[in-house]
Amino acid sequence: MGGKGWFLLKLLIFQGLFTSPPQDPGFDFFYFVLQWPGAYCDTKRACCYPTSGKPAADFGIHGLWPNYKDGSYPSNCDPDNEFDPSEISDLVSTLQTKWPTLSCPSNEGFKFWEHEWEKHGTCSESVMDQHKYFENTLALRDRVNLLQILTGAGIEPNDEFYKLKDIKKAIKEATGFTPVINCNKDPEKNSQLHEIFFCVDTSGTEFIECPIIPRDRCPSHLQFAKF
Ligand code: AMP
Repeated sequence: MGGKGWFLLKLLIFQGLFTSPPQDPGFDFFYFVLQWPGAYCDTKRACCYPTSGKPAADFGIHGLWPNYKDGSYPSNCDPDNEFDPSEISDLVSTLQTKWPTLSCPSNEGFKFWEHEWEKHGTCSESVMDQHKYFENTLALRDRVNLLQILTGAGIEPNDEFYKLKDIKKAIKEATGFTPVINCNKDPEKNSQLHEIFFCVDTSGTEFIECPIIPRDRCPSHLQFAKF
């Protein structure tokens, strides 16, 4: 091989060593899911306030869920990567306010965070470890003040009914992104605003338009429950 050939070969080896192709994270995007506590609590199933007290009347985090573009999602990907509370000790007080548990019996929240990490977080462990998973999700919550957006559009948690299209329009106008809205039913069978899904890129840090738009699981008019 001539001098030029050697040079090219060395260049290729050098490039191969330092520029490995981007790793496939194993999923296509995240759903970042916020939850209205008033709706979680206003169903036939009871809710329990966390041991730290009644959460603020604000949207809390439900989770950050890796998803595939075909609408399916991976779950419980790594039983060896168990939730370790000691890894998130610096985040606990923020998690308690922004990712509050509402399940019974009343607890601090570790059970809910453990469930979310083990079911969903372990499926994005190629992108972020446990601490980063919770840290990134909290940071996403700080970037969208949903309650302010909705109340600014006259949509308030006062047990009144609002149009689904007005809720989506207010959020799209304020954030630039179309949300997916999920409802549940109160004991009188009224549909109420329960969860709002946003899509996030595979780094878990940037909002994106949803690659697939699932049907909203809400009727055209829905209640925004008091909390
Ligand atoms: P997932 O399995 O991540 O889709 O979440 C569904 C599970 O999370 C169900 O068992 C719910 O009861 C539970 N869940 C949803 N919201 C909360 C909450 N705020 N506190 C505790 N558990 C919750």
